[in-house]
Amino acid sequence: MQTNLADFIKDTAAGREADAILRSCVHCGFCTATCPTFQLLGDELDGPRGRIYLIKQMLEGQPVSARTQLHLDRCLSCRSCETTCPSGVKYHRLLEIGRDVLERRVPRSFASRATRFLLTEALPRPWIFKPAVALGQLFRPLLPRALAEKVPLTITGGEPTLTPDTNAATARVLDRLGIALSEIPGAACCGALRYHLNAQEKALDDMRQVIDAWWPLVDSGQVEGFVMTASGCGEHVRAYGELLKHDPAYAAKAARIAALTRDISEVLAAEAGRLADLLAGSGKAAGKRVAFHSPCTLQHAQKIRGVVESLLTTAGYQLTPVVDAHLCCGSAGTYSISQPVLAGQLRDGKLAALSAGSPAVLVTANIGCQTHLQSGSTLPVRHWIELIDERLRSRD
Ligand code: SF4
Ligand code: SF4
Repeated sequence: MQTNLADFIKDTAAGREADAILRSCVHCGFCTATCPTFQLLGDELDGPRGRIYLIKQMLEGQPVSARTQLHLDRCLSCRSCETTCPSGVKYHRLLEIGRDVLERRVPRSFASRATRFLLTEALPRPWIFKPAVALGQLFRPLLPRALAEKVPLTITGGEPTLTPDTNAATARVLDRLGIALSEIPGAACCGALRYHLNAQEKALDDMRQVIDAWWPLVDSGQVEGFVMTASGCGEHVRAYGELLKHDPAYAAKAARIAALTRDISEVLAAEAGRLADLLAGSGKAAGKRVAFHSPCTLQHAQKIRGVVESLLTTAGYQLTPVVDAHLCCGSAGTYSISQPVLAGQLRDGKLAALSAGSPAVLVTANIGCQTHLQSGSTLPVRHWIELIDERLRSRD
């Protein structure tokens, strides 16, 4: 694709990166077929190729409007298009650059600004988030439906998370494998939430705070790696090196921490032999039917495919078939709150696909997908590590 970027951006780092990405696109349109929003809306501008054109026009200095904003806001950042693209176009980076420019060009409504402010400030902070969940439980009947569905019925264990069982199960499984977990005080949100809400500077501050908390353990050799149970966080921490490469004080540390980060499925896969020995001989889970939803951040961003499925099969679970497994469930960070109609349609379609094989339980690998799917499902939706944990505990 030929480009002619405008003066305001062409000699910046972002401009050079965007230019290279734009030039790598050959307009073939293969990506469009696997884009969830194009499938729902049927509009070229709600597919990756159309959005690439919109961003190109903006970076070339052409006028932008609320219409441009609408089509970019509707993008899930699911990266299904990147998996399909034969030319390796880094769509997500182009989108991040485009959204950053657009945010400064096109003003948002008061309601939109207020919602984004609340999400940006409350979600990453446990001391705000936990009381907010308690308030949400109290006033659930008065909340908009999209928000009410996100409020969990209970908070167990006193943990400021929506799924406290996941961390406990992970610790038990790793303990059985002889891997000790260190709890690191002082680390806040990884920055993914704010980054995807386009509060990029605040997100970079979150990331620096995490690095400050983690680095002493890396530097002193006290930890060998960082284990992520939420694939959305894992994807983001793995991008630290790229996102902070222009910060001389943090670039090297960010790259090192990114390189040490693993999804929990990769950690277990690396210990597959020992795990199989631990699981051997117990038939208690044999045949239990399970449907797995692979989050976009696992399959498209981290490119981890088939690993969880293999672990669950080894543990004796029967995986049921899921059509269109590449499609996003609609959670996508805060998308289910900012775009509730599209998110609801995607969720319902995903739940229909997951339920088709009559599973007893649905499992996934990211807290956002888990709570989003649970909000529309009568079947339990859990993190897959809890099933491995149950199998291991059934032998005790
Ligand atoms: S990231 Fe997902 S929603 Fe956005 S253009 Fe690509 S496939 Fe479509
Ligand atoms: S598949 Fe890749 S090269 Fe083809 S239009 Fe989409 S982004 Fe461009």
